[in-house]
Amino acid sequence: MSDPILAVHGLSAGYGDFQALFDVSFALEEGGLLGLVGANGAGKSTLFKAILGQLPRKRDMVHFRGQPIGHLKTEVMLRLGIAQVPEGRRLFPSLSVEENLQLAAERGRKGDWTLRRVYDLFPILREKRMARSMSLSGGQQQMVAIGRALVANPAVILFDEISLGLAPIVVSDVYAAMPEILKSGVSAIVVEQDIERVRAIADTLVCLNEGRVVLSGPTRDFTKAQITTAYFGE
Ligand code: ATP
Repeated sequence: MSDPILAVHGLSAGYGDFQALFDVSFALEEGGLLGLVGANGAGKSTLFKAILGQLPRKRDMVHFRGQPIGHLKTEVMLRLGIAQVPEGRRLFPSLSVEENLQLAAERGRKGDWTLRRVYDLFPILREKRMARSMSLSGGQQQMVAIGRALVANPAVILFDEISLGLAPIVVSDVYAAMPEILKSGVSAIVVEQDIERVRAIADTLVCLNEGRVVLSGPTRDFTKAQITTAYFGE
């Protein structure tokens, strides 16, 4: 079998003296969608920060296509092929939709994901392409954030709580794009609070509790009750 596209080995990380992650290990297979679940404060965002080099970690703790990348800086990650859709979206508010996408396209890699393809995926963004991103609804902003990751033509996207603050119907609109994204060859880790939604889309599950992996494996191996128990640490 080929190497996983992204693997984390014995990763420990934190903030100064505070350790937030303890010996975390898992693998994201090429073309896979890994659902990362856990209660507030379990360490999901911290894990993304550590993968992306926004927190100190060691060389061998993160592998990309079998190569250690835990010594690389954040700026290198996008060029390497790891993009994120961060919690809170972090768009440039006064720039237009198109400018936000254009900037990301210039910083990323060349490939099949162009602005046009993002507009095909989210037609509302074509209509709004000249609008400042701050004038968009939360769901539309989330689509821009996803589009921004895609136009960098990554191999892996880390999605951090893309449903946060969105109405359920809007969440469904945003998630409707996921099959097309996966079909294009992108592999993904998705942080999501809604266990039912994660079970529906993820082939692999990892549950964190207080910084430790408490459940990990193929989604089909776990019942909803098992996931819920791991999630709440009962
Ligand atoms: P949420 O769903 O609330 O985003 P999470 O699973 O993403 O939760 P993290 O944000 O990774 O959890 O937080 C993990 C732990 O690290 C928590 O105890 C949190 O208080 C702590 N933490 C997070 N960010 C910082 C920071 N910048 N400085 C110090 N501690 C932090």
